[in-house]
Amino acid sequence: MTRTGPAAAAARTADAFARLHGARPDGVWSAPGRVNLIGEHTDYNDGFALPMALPQATRVAARRRDDGLLRLYSAQSGEDRTTELRVTDLVPGAVPGWARYPAGTVWALAGAGHQVGGADLYVDSDVPAGAGLSSSAALECAVAVAYDDLYGLGLPGPELARTAQRAENAFAGVPCGVMDQMASVCCTEGAALHLDSRSLEHRQVPFGLDPHGLVLLVVDTRVRHDLADGAYAALRAGCERAAGLLGLPALRDLAPGELGAALDRLPAELAPLVRHVVTENARVTEAVRLLAAGDTPALGPLLTAGHASLREDYRVSCAETDLAVDTAVAAGALGARMTGGGFGGSVIALVPAARADGVRGAVTEAFRRAGHRAPAVLRAVPSAGAARIA
Ligand code: ADP
Ligand code: MG
Repeated sequence: MTRTGPAAAAARTADAFARLHGARPDGVWSAPGRVNLIGEHTDYNDGFALPMALPQATRVAARRRDDGLLRLYSAQSGEDRTTELRVTDLVPGAVPGWARYPAGTVWALAGAGHQVGGADLYVDSDVPAGAGLSSSAALECAVAVAYDDLYGLGLPGPELARTAQRAENAFAGVPCGVMDQMASVCCTEGAALHLDSRSLEHRQVPFGLDPHGLVLLVVDTRVRHDLADGAYAALRAGCERAAGLLGLPALRDLAPGELGAALDRLPAELAPLVRHVVTENARVTEAVRLLAAGDTPALGPLLTAGHASLREDYRVSCAETDLAVDTAVAAGALGARMTGGGFGGSVIALVPAARADGVRGAVTEAFRRAGHRAPAVLRAVPSAGAARIA
């Protein structure tokens, strides 16, 4: 019988480490993937988001080394070999492929002045990569919490998240915001995380689905985005240019009541970006109010409105994500939207439990008829953030 659950996964990861590296690890650490309920493309505008952690997580078994070597292996890399690097030699741009995420995290810790050295790492994950569920942040954050313990740093969660983001921005070359890393580190079981991306203040918002007879489905469209390509960076630059033209530090500083006048002052290509960011921040505030009032079902229309804004104003959806959203809603979902950066990836749908099979079947059938690859559908349960698990 295959053992399941975090303890069994931790034991398997530790055993695999021992087979590879020839010694027991000092411990095993885990960091989850996430879905974002609402608040997309707001983090790099200093705005708000409401992510929750998934049960799917990346585990890192690790053993400290005192010779300055960093030896990296991942069960998902597709390379059956260990990458060996010297911590003091790490420089942005010098490490290709998947290893730049864990190496970048060590580089960012060292760059922040922390006394860190080498380690042997074994990575294993059940977060699908490139599916918009934030496998990159899960990998960085698992390494960050492992190093935090191995080297006795005692860093607070937001600092670990910032360091992981710095790894992704400056070392891996992906200009992401901080939401993914904050979600992976700071989320708690049963709650969504109300995040202020400027201050990194965050609050747990209880997100019960069972009491409302609801489930949250995740449809992985299997269309793999590549955030390292120019589209994401261009959107981010567009937002920064718009804020500059409006004389604001960031688009977060534009109040909904000032939106109309601001749009009149902006070039036509920037106005829709600004409209999305300002209305999306307002949707986060509204979602938090609804959850606090116990009105979880009312979240549905807000999700669908968020998707329309991403499709029409921000233009980051694609045929597959639009089809998943439209089909889910037509089959009885209370609301649905793409989640993550876009250009493919995953869709979330808030669905009455009795309709879950129907929605899953309808989306699968619609994809088949449209000639798309079969989607993977999973159920999202608000889960714990990064932690030591063995
Ligand atoms: P997402 O974060 O949405 O999954 P990204 O493009 O940001 O997509 O990150 C995916 C990349 O992260 C992969 O291409 C790979 O380089 C790296 N990655 C994530 N998880 C792992 C893993 N378990 N092992 C090796 N590399 C991983
Ligand atoms: Mg990512």
